[in-house]
Amino acid sequence: DAGTMPKAAMQYQDTPKGKAQCSICAQFIAPHSCKVVAGNISPNGWCIAFAPKS
Ligand code: SF4
Repeated sequence: DAGTMPKAAMQYQDTPKGKAQCSICAQFIAPHSCKVVAGNISPNGWCIAFAPKS
């Protein structure tokens, strides 16, 4: 399922933060969702809840 946190609250951006981006985050749900943040999420995005996949 998709997350419930507003993008703004999580400082979501549609671009990577250095090497950190949604496609390598443990919270990402391909192709365009996230367990934390609501809405359409880019694989190339980033937010403050980023946590790399183990
Ligand atoms: Fe979701 Fe943020 Fe991880 Fe992107 S970086 S997948 S928006 S938790």
